Amino acid sequence: MFILTNGGENIANSKIYISYTSISTFRTCKRKFKFKYIDRVSAAPVKSPFLSLGVSVHNTLAEFNMLPKEWQTADSLMQLLKRHWVSDGYKNSKIEENFLKRAQNMLLNYCSERRDMGNIILCEEFLKQDINKNLILLGKIDKLYLNENGILEVLDYKAGYTALSKEEFENNIQLPIYALLTKYRFNKLPKVISYYYLVPNQKISIELTKTILENGIYNLKKVINEILSEKDFPYNSSNNCKNSCEYYNLCEAFNVKAN
Ligand code: SF4
Repeated sequence: MFILTNGGENIANSKIYISYTSISTFRTCKRKFKFKYIDRVSAAPVKSPFLSLGVSVHNTLAEFNMLPKEWQTADSLMQLLKRHWVSDGYKNSKIEENFLKRAQNMLLNYCSERRDMGNIILCEEFLKQDINKNLILLGKIDKLYLNENGILEVLDYKAGYTALSKEEFENNIQLPIYALLTKYRFNKLPKVISYYYLVPNQKISIELTKTILENGIYNLKKVINEILSEKDFPYNSSNNCKNSCEYYNLCEAFNVKAN
């Protein structure tokens, strides 16, 4: 399915994971992409309240979804949140308490009127597939299930506040990654892909038509070819680097060598 013809010298001896996260990194800062996905420089991940909140909520929902349906209650959800709560990255206990409240509220809101009922196939699982000897397609699927209408649906939980427009959603590189990984694993394409925004308890769904899929695969191939053709991997520094990039201490943008 992926025939990549140009470039590739830069990763001749590497195996690169092509995922939503790695593509986002490439688009944000090519130097960071090189540190992380080509040179594989190990560095302690940056901790932040928002990351911890996201991990806590996702892990809670993963276990919750796997419970027998009669056990899927608000009480069990709160207990699971306690068990999966990640305390990293909070400056003090007051801030952590606020984030915990935020997580509790969004999950209780979700549980009061769920929009993801159906028969579960998998939850919070990494799927991967070799594309060629250098490239591996990788994605974490929050939930794959047969929805109440018996339709195969991939669902992605969102704990943040920013929602995509319909057009942004249709063109999001996550769509072809989810579709292809589901097809490789189950020999079946999902019919619907959804983003479930937990804060407002809203689910936005897109029917995976032939046009949307072909457009997505075209965009995916395009970005893969950009990665393979990139030679310099320039840095793209910003005021956020210090607090958001684990390679800050190694990056030439902030470490000018004296003559
Ligand atoms: S510190 Fe900033 S510029 Fe340097 S690699 Fe990280 S994100 Fe890129």
